[in-house]
Amino acid sequence: MSVTPLPPLAGLEPARLDWRCDDTGESAPLSTQFDDVYFSRHDGRAETEHVFVQGNDLPRRLAAWTAERPFVIGETGFGTGLNMLCAWACFDAHAPAGARLHLVSTERYPLRRDDLARALAAWPDLASRAERLIRQWPHPVAGVHRLPLDERVTLDLHFGDAAERLTLLEGQVDAWFLDGFAPSKNPGMWHPELFTAMAAASRPGATFATFTCAGVVKRGLAGVGFAWRKVPGYGRKREMLAGEIAAPPAGVAQVRRQHTPWFSPPPPRPAGHVAVIGAGIAGTSMARALARRGVRVTLLDREAPGAGGSGNRQGVLYVKLAAEANDHSRFYLAGLQYTLRWLEQLDPGHSLWSPSGVLQLAMNEREASRQARFLAAHPLPESLLDGVDAEQASAAAGIDLAHGGLAYPAAGWVRPGALCQFLAAGPGIEYRQAEVAGLAQNDGGWQLALDDGETLAADQVVIANAGAANRFAATAALPLQLVRGQVSQLELPQGAPRLARVVCGGGYVAPALDGMLTFGATFLPNDTDTTLREADHAANLAELERELPALAQALREAGVALEPAACQGRAALRAASPDKSPYAGPVPDVEAWRAAYAVLAKDASRVPAVPGRHHPGLWISAAHGSRGMASAPLCAELIASRICDEPLPLEWPLVDHLHPGRRVIRDLIRNR
Ligand code: SAM
Repeated sequence: MSVTPLPPLAGLEPARLDWRCDDTGESAPLSTQFDDVYFSRHDGRAETEHVFVQGNDLPRRLAAWTAERPFVIGETGFGTGLNMLCAWACFDAHAPAGARLHLVSTERYPLRRDDLARALAAWPDLASRAERLIRQWPHPVAGVHRLPLDERVTLDLHFGDAAERLTLLEGQVDAWFLDGFAPSKNPGMWHPELFTAMAAASRPGATFATFTCAGVVKRGLAGVGFAWRKVPGYGRKREMLAGEIAAPPAGVAQVRRQHTPWFSPPPPRPAGHVAVIGAGIAGTSMARALARRGVRVTLLDREAPGAGGSGNRQGVLYVKLAAEANDHSRFYLAGLQYTLRWLEQLDPGHSLWSPSGVLQLAMNEREASRQARFLAAHPLPESLLDGVDAEQASAAAGIDLAHGGLAYPAAGWVRPGALCQFLAAGPGIEYRQAEVAGLAQNDGGWQLALDDGETLAADQVVIANAGAANRFAATAALPLQLVRGQVSQLELPQGAPRLARVVCGGGYVAPALDGMLTFGATFLPNDTDTTLREADHAANLAELERELPALAQALREAGVALEPAACQGRAALRAASPDKSPYAGPVPDVEAWRAAYAVLAKDASRVPAVPGRHHPGLWISAAHGSRGMASAPLCAELIASRICDEPLPLEWPLVDHLHPGRRVIRDLIRNR
């Protein structure tokens, strides 16, 4: 259903730098790809302040910013991040306490982390901000990378070509930093498509500023409705351009929804008080994302935080990607990268998780050839994903392995139950133990009928209670499948062999945590019983023997009985959608959709120009299956960004891919 196919899932060529002395004798980074400098070491800072910060009148505008949504700055060419760090400093100096700032920047040739650190070392007074950026600096992979810089400031790095990335952006900008090397050195970026995408992603009244006065830039901007004027440039540059756009001209306004009007987002409204139903990883990460934005949150669970599928002592954090890139894989790879950054921010001491690395073994020829096809089709950075042979895998795991496979050096394991408890107890979140028995709309908000007889009023509601997510009338039509899963645990004696990585084959085995080895899990669709079964322990033990025979042998020699009776464990239910991607977004009014789009059953090309109707203020984050650690935190950001009227942390085709109404349209088209 995507109109714009996304570019390949791939790594990006890093920036190639030469550290040259500039005309003041100080060393400054020069791009050998473009033969141009990123900034002048001597006065680069002052130039940024003059051209971009003052050119967009930021000190005055930020001081006056009282809107609930964040002020949004868009940029072409992130480079060393100097412009954005200066904008952040300007925001801190001028904006009122409740204001928030959202930075969106594109970059086709990301700097290597070391180069970034070296470049930013030139500005000691930006050091603490630079340090936060460097710590979270993403892998050089095409796509959107969200970095929560601090409680009030978020940076979305859109890695890839500026025009392409801004065309995929779901969000609107208040002020543009039109950077990038000079048009004479980088004609490929200053392309008509770039200006069209900028106009389409501009708020009415959005401003821009740029160091260049090149004709191609003036014509490009004017052609899409920006008014420009020449203003004094910095230093030796006599002139630069600044200006604004009243509103995108009709032809330029976003046309993408012509093909999928049902996915048009509901109009923004004040966030108000949000009730989040369910305190597993979907609900607790959702509550956290909203609370970080200053939204009042009540988090409800019928049992306790992490009582359901997210309650295991130890769970693995990894994804399984399709050999041929599809939107499902794109989303999960983005989700994995986001979760790793998020966990590092949340728990830098690694008490709730460990980036131990994950090995996904190719246990048979078929899987080996699937992995080989994947690696050939997806040139991703080794720091994120790499092919390893049995010898390399064994060295990494610290135990003999009979197979090679894929290594995810940055992935690992989490303590999901402890993480849910930690998040639920976080600042700005009121946790309440109660089962939500009913959900009714009233006066533009929602009434939650609780099993203790009380009612709770909320302006908006996020349904995040996994298998019970479709128990409410509004969500009853969303297909969900329940899957029973049991993990097994064995207590290890002192001196028992240790696994250094998570190893996955048919199941997974995690490095021991506090002397306990966790492995599993069984996968039984439509089985809703959660009592522990010996047969499931036996199945997990058999998988452990198959995947890690050397470990099993060594454990036996250390006196560990590999028998069901010796195992402890936990069984829980996960919920999955038919296409195995989560539901994350606004809840569609299914009856209204079926009526408005009934014609699709006869002719799928006759798309009615009717925007999709949604239950106002009702959202869902569910169907995370057994990969919730990789998917839920990013889905939480996605929904929180929608609720708070911010740019989204995913390209719009992926936002559509996760839309809870996708099956309704599919079923209509298939005449089901
Ligand atoms: N704003 C930067 C800063 O504060 O350090 C300096 C930007 S530097 C002069 C230009 C940047 O644009 C480089 O990082 C370059 O890799 C990037 N760039 C060049 N062509 C691009 C394109 N087509 N799409 C996105 N970024 C591009």
